[in-house]
Amino acid sequence: MEATTVKAFAAEAADKALKQTEIKRRVVGETDIEIDILYCGVCHSDLHTARNDWGGTVYPAVPGHEIVGKVTKVGNKVTKLKVGDFAAVGCLVDSCRTCSSCQQDLEQYCLNGFTGTYNGKDKHIGGTTFGGYSEKVIVAEHFVLKVPPNLDLAATAPLLCAGITTWSPLRHWKVGKDSKVAVIGLGGLGHMAIKLAKGLGAEVTLFSRTTSKQKDALDLGADKVVISTDDGQMKSVSGQFDVIIDTVPYIHDVNPYIATLNISGTLVLVGYLGGLEPILNTVPMILGRKSVAGSLIGGIAETQEMLDFCGKHNIVSEIEIIKMQEINEAYERMLKSDVKYRFVIDMASLKNQ
Ligand code: NAP
Ligand code: ZN
Ligand code: ZN
Repeated sequence: MEATTVKAFAAEAADKALKQTEIKRRVVGETDIEIDILYCGVCHSDLHTARNDWGGTVYPAVPGHEIVGKVTKVGNKVTKLKVGDFAAVGCLVDSCRTCSSCQQDLEQYCLNGFTGTYNGKDKHIGGTTFGGYSEKVIVAEHFVLKVPPNLDLAATAPLLCAGITTWSPLRHWKVGKDSKVAVIGLGGLGHMAIKLAKGLGAEVTLFSRTTSKQKDALDLGADKVVISTDDGQMKSVSGQFDVIIDTVPYIHDVNPYIATLNISGTLVLVGYLGGLEPILNTVPMILGRKSVAGSLIGGIAETQEMLDFCGKHNIVSEIEIIKMQEINEAYERMLKSDVKYRFVIDMASLKNQ
């Protein structure tokens, strides 16, 4: 059997706009699921990858790891889903499945390296994995998720990255109804962090740079908004939070937020990758047993747990649907924080092209 060719949108270099192209998808193996992609969310990581912000992007790069679609083919050993079911794929499409991380359902920390949905090493047909800005994807069933039937499909897509990336630290640091949580940055991840922390029963505060998103944050369920550029407001929440989820994508001063952690509190970085500047002052950390941590997406079982929780509590993302052809403009708007609060591509726009 031959690999199939499908339409996709790709970046051909860091400084080039994304444009339509064709890519190959592998033959459906006996434990594989073929998904006709209906919607794909637009994550800030897509932009970082397309523009090689982190280094290591292999071109052409087809981003997209918030995928929701319909099953169109299954291998003869597949039991999880059948043709016609709705299915979802997040940031992972493979891992070794034998190392200690994989055996603990922590595929994202696979000691032998997970395979990312895009810009990973394609073990099947060689080259690089291509993401959800495409018509179809073929994924091993272990890495395919079930979509709760009551949720809006397009608004479910962002749960596959923005949702799980904030859910995993909330669960790891045992957030519940007695917790005080703060979220830094109201974007894709930030708005999901508010909804999920509220869903878990926590009291939630948003740190945002300006007052422009204040009303939205309260509408999303935040109990309070603190403007991070206002020293007086920052002082007013000194020593308060058990967990802070920091979603800021670019270098920023973390020290003022450490002051707002409670004794034994933890600030979890999920956005910025790299060295911190100004340097982290350990004095308040030592004097208050405070931690600064990091967290990467979530494992497959935890992603299904998050989707099921969202199904039960009717939690989805706030989205603006765009056409595939509008992706370059969407990236520019994302850089200006002009998105409420996640772009989702309607893949019919690519198929009908
Ligand atoms: P996004 O929608 O662009 O949101 C980021 C938010 O951060 C903005 O809305 C803004 O909120 C704030 N912000 C932006 N630039 C800032 C700056 N220079 N200083 C301070 N605040 C700033 O991005 P996203 O999709 O949520 O992704 C956030 C980051 O997480 C990205 O770097 C992405 O690559 C990363 N990510 C990590 C993981 C993981 O597994 N760890 C998974 C997915 C994404 P305000 O306007 O409210 O201040
Ligand atoms: Zn992402
Ligand atoms: Zn592994």
